[in-house]
Amino acid sequence: MPVSCKQLKDIMAKVAPGLPYVVQETEQDFLSFLRGESASAPNMSTTWHSEDCSFYRFEIDPLLLTVAPNVESVAMVASHEYGHYMLKACNKYGPDEEIRADLFGYAHMLKVGYDPRNAVEMWGVITRWMSERGLTHNPSEHPSGEARTKTMLEWIEQNRVAIETQFGRGVNQHL
Ligand SMILES: [Zn+2]
Repeated sequence: MPVSCKQLKDIMAKVAPGLPYVVQETEQDFLSFLRGESASAPNMSTTWHSEDCSFYRFEIDPLLLTVAPNVESVAMVASHEYGHYMLKACNKYGPDEEIRADLFGYAHMLKVGYDPRNAVEMWGVITRWMSERGLTHNPSEHPSGEARTKTMLEWIEQNRVAIETQFGRGVNQHL
């Protein structure tokens, strides 16, 4: 795997200190099947919560560690999940909620020491991974990879000074 379980442990310690996580395969395809929906990609990660929202746990699919090009990409996804927790998104779903968690996540990963510019390509990586397998994303659940890339690039532009102060210029040649 490009990102190891040891590296994931370090990432989770920075991104979501003290909160439990497990590495296990998600069952998204099976859920889609049960709902009578077309197959969607497995969730790369999930924020699981108890019915009364008093207990949270992050579930990381090993697939995430396989497809992520670098640690920053995993830190981005983990920070997104941490966003669901911090934004008290329990039982709130939909594309707007996902974007809220994305934006929280970008600020959070920067705060704990990961350069968001190195994670931009992750949305495209996920989109390609899905299309190569004939999987489509469910627009009622998640924004498209293109929309997320666009929103992330806008966020990076708006926070350019803070990012360059911490990491310098031109880490990513595309930006
Ligand atoms: Zn989410």
